Amino acid sequence: MSELLAMLNAKPGNYQAMPAGGVPDITPEMVSAACCGLTRHVYLYALYKFAGQEDVLRELWALNRAAVKRRAILQKWNIQLQHLCCVGDLADSVLAEALTENRCLLCKGAGVNDRMKRCPACQGSGNGKRWSARKRARNIGISHTTFRNTWAVRYADCFREFGYFDKIIDQEIRYQLFSG
Ligand SMILES: [Zn+2]
Repeated sequence: MSELLAMLNAKPGNYQAMPAGGVPDITPEMVSAACCGLTRHVYLYALYKFAGQEDVLRELWALNRAAVKRRAILQKWNIQLQHLCCVGDLADSVLAEALTENRCLLCKGAGVNDRMKRCPACQGSGNGKRWSARKRARNIGISHTTFRNTWAVRYADCFREFGYFDKIIDQEIRYQLFSG
């Protein structure tokens, strides 16, 4: 996650709390305006995660399940019958993990220390540790071994998509902030 988004994420509802040195105030309205041209999946994710709009969660959840199912079909995931329901559970777990506050313990998600130097623990990302393979497996309702052998790659693939979302959202907000 970028430092800008780490700041947004670090202090939800307090968009004034930006680093010293000239980042303008970021409001939920600005996040919404900056991201409205993105796909609805990304847009709703931005609204929920960075503009605090919790009422979009149901639609975001449904869109995300549909996206992961589409991915499973396109990538021809080989799924045993008893694991069919895992696709939806994987989608839910990935979304929950992407939305969960994931702050670095040292810098509390800011990415910088008191003197505005890059945080050494997270290299400025503000990110803490990701969920463990065991937790991910538990969420999907499969054994750790099955997860490791078959589902871990799929999970990582889906999760990476949200990293990409963060990047586009960051770009759009920067563009909104610093252009014109
Ligand atoms: Zn840190």
